[in-house]
Amino acid sequence: MALVLCPECGEETVDQLVNCPLCDEPLATGQKSEPAKNARLFFFGLAFIGGLGAATLCNMLGYTGWAMGLGMVGLASMAVLILNLFSAR
Ligand SMILES: [Zn+2]
Repeated sequence: MALVLCPECGEETVDQLVNCPLCDEPLATGQKSEPAKNARLFFFGLAFIGGLGAATLCNMLGYTGWAMGLGMVGLASMAVLILNLFSAR
């Protein structure tokens, strides 16, 4: 049993309840997917910054093959990030 926040009114309640005791908002939908989504955004944001940063570094050091690969990782992460941001609400 864990405490969750109601997505509608922010009331703290237990995750066993189907509806919020205060505003009757259903708790099961949306509430649990949100932290997972934030973690995913964080991960791809990190991959985006890290990938492009490492690609720039490899490029400066003359490892163009690595720079290409890492640049691809960075750009792919950016694409996923943008898709995720636009699908939010
Ligand atoms: Zn509520």
